[in-house]
Amino acid sequence: MLAADFSRLGQEVSRIVDAGADMLHFDVMDGEFVPNFGISPPFIAAVRQITQVPFDVHIMVTHPLRYISALVTAGADLITFHIESDDAPDDVISAIKAQGVKPGLALSPKTPISAVTPYLSDIDLILPMSVEPGFGGQAFQPSTLEKIAELRQIIQELDLQLDISVDGGVTTEIAPLAIEQGATILVAGTAIFRSQQPEAVIEQLRMGAI
Ligand code: ZN
Repeated sequence: MLAADFSRLGQEVSRIVDAGADMLHFDVMDGEFVPNFGISPPFIAAVRQITQVPFDVHIMVTHPLRYISALVTAGADLITFHIESDDAPDDVISAIKAQGVKPGLALSPKTPISAVTPYLSDIDLILPMSVEPGFGGQAFQPSTLEKIAELRQIIQELDLQLDISVDGGVTTEIAPLAIEQGATILVAGTAIFRSQQPEAVIEQLRMGAI
């Protein structure tokens, strides 16, 4: 959603949902965990009045526990927080589940997979970031593909059911590569919102899954 034209928010949301988006992804930032601001709960609540598609809320914040309640009230269906944040992961996962929504865990490009493996059995989604968190429009880091493959292998070995999401620099060229390695959710901002034909872009992103 960060790539949408906020001056015409209602039309943008309708355009993307009508084009076939399965979920809307919101990037929430606190200006501390990353040196930038993102989307806030009132914005998410406003979009919730327009559509009922699932909301995937990605929080790049130092203290995730402070925001969970407000995000659930605003309409979040899934909340993905960063392993590099300050709150204890077990506490954040429990707090998200206690609110009746699904927990996800994100890791920044420099963070090793070993940091998240203890939590994989407690979450619904793992998000190895393919760009540095905090800014849209960055190029996909190719090393992410190896991370996706490694995560898929661990998930299979542990016999777990969780989505692998890829977020940052996802284009129609990157999509089949990420899917081949095991990605099950593709987050695309610029590629979809800046296109005059978002249906075609979403269709192409999906085709990698066949
Ligand atoms: Zn995100």
